[in-house]
Amino acid sequence: MGTVRPVDLKVQPAPYQIRYSVLQKIVKTLEKFEDATSNAGKRAIELEASVARKSGSGQSYRFNSSVLIRDLIKTRGKLEEPGSSGLRSKRNGVKDKLTKAAVMKSLEAILIDGPTLSANGYNTGNLGEVDTVGCISAMGSERDFTTCIRCNSKFDKIKIMSPATCRFHVQRKRYNRETREGEYACCGETTSSTSFLALGCKTLPHHVFRAETFEAMSNISPFRNTSDVDGEINVLALDCEMAFTSCGYELIRLTVVDFFSSEVVFDEIVQPFGEVIDLNSEFSGVHTIDKSKSVSFAKMLELVLNNKMINANSILIGHGMENDLNVLRLIHKKIIDTAILYPRGKFKSSLKDLTFEAVSKRIQTGEHDSSEDAKATMWVLKAKLGIPLQQSVWD
Ligand SMILES: [Zn+2]
Ligand SMILES: [Zn+2]
Repeated sequence: MGTVRPVDLKVQPAPYQIRYSVLQKIVKTLEKFEDATSNAGKRAIELEASVARKSGSGQSYRFNSSVLIRDLIKTRGKLEEPGSSGLRSKRNGVKDKLTKAAVMKSLEAILIDGPTLSANGYNTGNLGEVDTVGCISAMGSERDFTTCIRCNSKFDKIKIMSPATCRFHVQRKRYNRETREGEYACCGETTSSTSFLALGCKTLPHHVFRAETFEAMSNISPFRNTSDVDGEINVLALDCEMAFTSCGYELIRLTVVDFFSSEVVFDEIVQPFGEVIDLNSEFSGVHTIDKSKSVSFAKMLELVLNNKMINANSILIGHGMENDLNVLRLIHKKIIDTAILYPRGKFKSSLKDLTFEAVSKRIQTGEHDSSEDAKATMWVLKAKLGIPLQQSVWD
């Protein structure tokens, strides 16, 4: 095998020589454990690149790469959490086939408790009745000032469809420990920059808002509690795409995947209530909402909220699923959230990093895709619990 080199990145967290030597260390570590060492180089390049991408500074790069190498040694090159499952007993290397009952037991054991759900932005339904007046009339005819969540300008919600100048950065700023400045991942502008681009690298003609509280969300459209829907016990992974409209932040696509069969059981574009302002296409992957190829919000609920699909007995799996359930206006109890279960230190992990670490698959390389994200969340959980990704027949 020839010499392996680190991949070129737009933002280099560490000098080439340091990345090069880290990469060689990863190769050596992998070669100790992998049967087919021909693969070690390729895998090492991917692993090093994922560490480099998530590291905002030389210091964090050094820390993250040493964690990676430690984990590789601990898991004998596999990177799955050792002994995390306890699901599969290994006798002389022979794995027992998993039963559905065993998997259900381990899923029940990691359901997130109520207080943790509340602390993470999930609505619990203990907040009393709130009148739903609908988004347009909710605004009334009085002035109703709010702050644009993209550019921080104050604007009048009633006039949301009148042209304005919303200049913002597409991605959040990160703190660069070496330069000691905030840095925008989208364009590389820093907080101390005097360039006019520092105010934002994108300009759109409308401001946007997002209802944050249970009351504000309920005013626009009401929450439903799944405890009112009886049905079969099932396990479903779900992911939504959202857009900004004249009614705030709304659902525009929902994908539901069955955990046991791995089949996509629902995947539809959903019409928002308000007039579309920004489909977030670069993230949502949704470019148009064609009325003939999409369903209304009410139809979507009818199709997914029933005894065969989402009901009181369902276990729902998602990554940062509070956002999904809030745009779906659903209150649900039995939840597994991979962002809460597998954090990165003090912070929530990204689904992209988590998927790469757990199953060595790359997702979100371009636009987001709720179908890909729902499946990725399911893969992460299966890998962490030691459930074979391919198993689709269960006893
Ligand atoms: Zn920017
Ligand atoms: Zn704005």
